[in-house]
Amino acid sequence: MSTPPGARRIDGRAIAARLRAQAAEVASALRERGVQPLLAVADPTAGDEGAAWYMRSISRAAEQTGIGCQIHPVDPAGRQEAVTSLLTRLSGDPAVHGVICQAPLPPGLTAAAAGACIAVAKDVDGANPASLGQLAAGLGGAFAPATAAAVIEILRAEGVPLEGRRAVVVGRSTVVGKPAALLLLAENATVTVCHSRTAGLAAVCREADVLVAAAGRPGLIGAAHVAPGAVVIDVGITATPGGVMAGDVDEAAVTPAAAALTPVPGGVGPVTTAQLLRQTAAAAWRAETSRIQS
Ligand code: NAD
Repeated sequence: MSTPPGARRIDGRAIAARLRAQAAEVASALRERGVQPLLAVADPTAGDEGAAWYMRSISRAAEQTGIGCQIHPVDPAGRQEAVTSLLTRLSGDPAVHGVICQAPLPPGLTAAAAGACIAVAKDVDGANPASLGQLAAGLGGAFAPATAAAVIEILRAEGVPLEGRRAVVVGRSTVVGKPAALLLLAENATVTVCHSRTAGLAAVCREADVLVAAAGRPGLIGAAHVAPGAVVIDVGITATPGGVMAGDVDEAAVTPAAAALTPVPGGVGPVTTAQLLRQTAAAAWRAETSRIQS
């Protein structure tokens, strides 16, 4: 769908290509030292269509970037231990640099319990609660969830100033809303986090210079939520009955006021995949550097 004059449409695919090129440079430098960067994916999704699509796009992007990507199917009907022991084994494998666990998880296995099996040094999608803790404590060393990091990379690529600006994040999940808020705070933005119980959502959102929508509610953010000149980052992805992916932002409604916005698809999604690979390359680089130093 074309955007009427008004908001500039941010090209997530172009940003993703630049981030993948950075990851490819690191991967190439590692290969010259005899190290093949490798991302391992535990897959307990038993053919879930959305998950399969996402894993195919990661594999494709990894291949283009010179990063290995191994998918390890695990029977979701088996015991939870099948997933947790696979994650533990992958975490302990010196040939593996990044480990992620693809959702949906088997019933009874929480994201926190699965994430806790991934060593922080290999936790390239920030799934271990300890990684989020390090992020919250401002300690560095851990990776943020790739989607939250992608939000910051998009703002950086677009030259959007954050220091001293008002940022509003709609959504407080552990994978997107909270880490995005922490990363915005680290950039010295003044951050408000909204959620399903927030009163007067539109008025709070209108305070934003940067509005990050991560609620998973198509069309939640409309004209009333966006102040003139705001930059709107739409993280939401919801499959509609027609098979089309919908964001949280009503693009046509906000475009007259917003300065710029990310479309769905073609916004945050491709940048997330690229950032995951960048973090895998960084994890491999750190592992190699500490091996040389020890
Ligand atoms: P979630 O369901 O775990 O969390 C949603 C959050 O939104 C909650 O904190 C909830 O309080 C809030 N919320 C729900 N309805 C609301 C409302 N009416 N008003 C205000 N807040 C409301 O979801 P999630 O895992 O954080 O994902 C959020 C969205 O981002 C989903 O659409 C998901 O598909 C998408 N997502 C996209 C990517 C990507 O790469 N682009 C990655 C991860 C998630």
